[in-house]
Amino acid sequence: MTNKTIDLSDELYDYLLHVGLREPRLLRELRDATDNEEMSVMRSAPEQGQFMALLIKLMGAKRVLEIGTYTGYGTLWMALALPKDGEIVTCDISEQWTFVAHRFWEEAGVHKKIHLHLQPALKTLDEQLANGGESSFDFVFIDADKENYAAYFERSLALLRPGGLIAVDNTLWNGSVIDANNHETSTEAIRAFNEKMHLDNRVDISLLPIADGLTLALKN
Ligand code: CA
Repeated sequence: MTNKTIDLSDELYDYLLHVGLREPRLLRELRDATDNEEMSVMRSAPEQGQFMALLIKLMGAKRVLEIGTYTGYGTLWMALALPKDGEIVTCDISEQWTFVAHRFWEEAGVHKKIHLHLQPALKTLDEQLANGGESSFDFVFIDADKENYAAYFERSLALLRPGGLIAVDNTLWNGSVIDANNHETSTEAIRAFNEKMHLDNRVDISLLPIADGLTLALKN
């Protein structure tokens, strides 16, 4: 018995999925389709997608902002969790990666809830702010280029309503955050972001060791 988070062996992880995951068929198929893409490591883990869907239902969220669509796997989990009049503004720059998403969003009947903006996310966030979007989102998922995490977070916080939640992906960055020899710009950016979050009293935080590390920040 230990009071620290359990180590997950491959076998224990398989068990976790076996008894803990209820992944709808279309999500499973989208995951399989994504696993054939070269950047499949960028797809959200299924238990993480399910967890964010649960958070969205728990909060009664209606408006979601996603920074980093990729193949739309996390988007689909969240869209299925939203009520009929819910919506997702999702940001990406890659037509190629988001191409596969559309078919699955449509087949799941949630495509009308999803608004994909294909341009640099900072531009989309600034447009949302300029168009009166301040405090208009309930939930934000940040999962894009790590160098811009701090900038995404600041804009997201402005776009989020008080009591809203920001989820930030990859904050343990495959463990490289504690590798003193790793000075890649992405690693340095995540380290700096994590240190800043630790001291940011505009939000309550929780860093969950789910998938590659997921930091939750609740706006005061
Ligand atoms: Ca990610």
